[in-house]
Amino acid sequence: MSAKPILWIVVPCYNEEAVLPLTAPMFLNKLEQLAEQEKISRNSRVLFVNDGSRDRTWELIREMAAKDERVLGICQSRNRGHQNAVLAGLMEAKERCDITISIDCDGQDDLNAMDEMVERYWEGFEVVYGVRSKRKTDTFFKRATAEGFYKLMNALGAEIVFNHADYRLISARVLKHFAEFEEVNIFLRGLVPLVGFPHTTVYYERAERLAGESHYPLKKMIALAFNGITSLSVKPITLITGCGIIFSFLGLAAMIWAIVEAILGETAAGWASLVCIVCMLGGLQLISIGIIGQYIGKTYLEAKRRPRYIISERTWEKPERRWLEDETEEKTPEKGE
Ligand code: UDP
Ligand code: MG
Repeated sequence: MSAKPILWIVVPCYNEEAVLPLTAPMFLNKLEQLAEQEKISRNSRVLFVNDGSRDRTWELIREMAAKDERVLGICQSRNRGHQNAVLAGLMEAKERCDITISIDCDGQDDLNAMDEMVERYWEGFEVVYGVRSKRKTDTFFKRATAEGFYKLMNALGAEIVFNHADYRLISARVLKHFAEFEEVNIFLRGLVPLVGFPHTTVYYERAERLAGESHYPLKKMIALAFNGITSLSVKPITLITGCGIIFSFLGLAAMIWAIVEAILGETAAGWASLVCIVCMLGGLQLISIGIIGQYIGKTYLEAKRRPRYIISERTWEKPERRWLEDETEEKTPEKGE
């Protein structure tokens, strides 16, 4: 029985006519190579997601699909941004394959990391994050902002893997559960960890873009960071409450000081009462906003209607990975004797 996993490589493309002709053959080669090594099924595919490009990207994808049955394409009705393009591809893939690997189409992410990702999958991991080991090729500015971004995100309560972009393997099984996360503002890097299941990371070096230009200027990066934080955590609201409490204490101290000054008679008339009012109100207002915020935050999290639990195994069900069951001995690459 040839029950090797069917892999779909999901590739978002936005105005990529310059780079697609270079990278598409690389993706296909990789499929060929992995199939050759018997790590994936011959029915594996590359799925290009055209994210409302304004150049010839979609025509290119259609031409490739007509020539090669391993190439598939879907076209979004308009530009919806990278995250939504990847999501569209993954959701399209999940019913038709066993594993997906999402990767950008500009050749920056090392395709050879896929070998290791698939191997990790054979070992039992359902999610494998590609992590950049170095950022040599990025400019200092890009590197500093990007690394700052991960740190800030984590500090503000969005759990994300450091230096992991959207190059990752996800099994169809995890994707089916992921589909139950119904939120509209998606930040895949932060959401995938929430689904759970065994996960691991592989390291690769990030190269330069092969052609074309980055579509992630600082403005989009800030928007992405903001979206990531606000869609994953209500920590900023808690911070406001915290500030309120601190300011209230400071206010109290200032009030005592003002009263003492007033008693000692070293102040102008009315000064102490004014200081007291200002100090009290500042802290109180912040606390009030924080409390209201807590309720809004709860409503916000509830409104997402995320699944409350996800069951990964049941004793009375067969494991999902058929090929591991039948052919563990021959097919698991590193089943060393
Ligand atoms: N992309 C997309 N929609 C967008 C912007 C980008 O699908 O609105 C795709 C793009 O084609 C590429 C990937 O997302 O495959 C990453 O974009 P890019 O390489 O420009 O970002 P960078 O690597 O510079 O952060
Ligand atoms: Mg890129």
